[in-house]
Amino acid sequence: MLKAMSINLDALHRQSTRRVLIGDVPVGGGAPISIQSMTLASPVDVAASIEEIQRLAEAGVDIVRTAVPSDEAADKLPELVKNSPVPLVADIHFNYRLAIKAAEAGVAKLRLNPGNIGGADRVRAVVDAARARGLPIRVGVNAGSLERDLLKKYGRPTAEAMVESARRHVRLLEDAGFEDTVISLKASHVPLMIEAYRLAAREFTYPLHLGVTEAGTPRAGNIKSAVGIGTLLAEGIGDTLRVSLSADPVEEVHAARSILEALDLRRESIRIIACPGCGRLQVDLIRLAEEVEERTREIRKPLTVAVMGCAVNGPGEAREADIGVAGGKGEGLLYVRGKMVRKVREAEIIDALLDLIVEVEPDPDREQAASGTMTWTPDWQES
Ligand code: SF4
Repeated sequence: MLKAMSINLDALHRQSTRRVLIGDVPVGGGAPISIQSMTLASPVDVAASIEEIQRLAEAGVDIVRTAVPSDEAADKLPELVKNSPVPLVADIHFNYRLAIKAAEAGVAKLRLNPGNIGGADRVRAVVDAARARGLPIRVGVNAGSLERDLLKKYGRPTAEAMVESARRHVRLLEDAGFEDTVISLKASHVPLMIEAYRLAAREFTYPLHLGVTEAGTPRAGNIKSAVGIGTLLAEGIGDTLRVSLSADPVEEVHAARSILEALDLRRESIRIIACPGCGRLQVDLIRLAEEVEERTREIRKPLTVAVMGCAVNGPGEAREADIGVAGGKGEGLLYVRGKMVRKVREAEIIDALLDLIVEVEPDPDREQAASGTMTWTPDWQES
């Protein structure tokens, strides 16, 4: 006998954290989960950096980080800040003077580890510069660069060692009277990263920036990131995220959006439902699904589009979606919100679906009913 299944929807409730502002983007305290990425271009090459940031903004990024490895890079920050359509974060390692310079240049957040900048006086100087401008600081623990004494104490990078490292950096900021802190605990090993964030969520109320670091190329990196970040988000952990891919950073933004959309934490894109196909196919379903996905990638409209291969499950899914097609013999039946509207030849299916995507307006009530998460209000409905 089949057992009745119940899903613990409470697990999707977000854990409560402090709220900080990164420029005009709120992070933590129940704010919508923001998407971050990082420029690949040299920060010294302002034109290339701006072009990259603009492409990231068009793809849906909320916050962009840029490396500041030198005085030359720091000198370019005012121009980058002035031309960036989204808040800019300065990524600093070891050099407190560069952090102060970045704050003075108008960045929206600093990413640096206070334990690595050479003492309490320097931490206070950075904190003063950040506080004077209302900038948060992200403490970024990475399993690959833990302090030697922690590696000796724990024997290897463990979740406990990572949280202890974060605790040290956070305490240095707290000792300087600073609490606009964001924490990340990244690892390339997904179970380690998940465990580190779970421990941190129990200990800290600072917002958490999620990420699987060095996740690799999109093929593996998207899956690792979806599993690591998605697991935590489904448990209510995490306030902002970056997917780290060895690829054009625009791919990171698309992946981040897909993760948030899969959990209904963001709903602004075309959601495609497509059957896997089988021996009943009489249309080129895989090509159709891929082309619809590719051609709707940049469209910001929360619609569900079903691309189905045949009449077995096709009409049902196509009816449940906002727009759908069920394949027949070299043709497709088009549906809009449950009603079959017309039949088109296979060669016309894509254009017909795209026309309907332009015509049909989103219906939030229908979306909410379809999500099944009736006890939970997704952030996209609040914003
Ligand atoms: S909808 Fe039809 S073609 Fe697609 S998997 Fe189901 S039976 Fe096969």
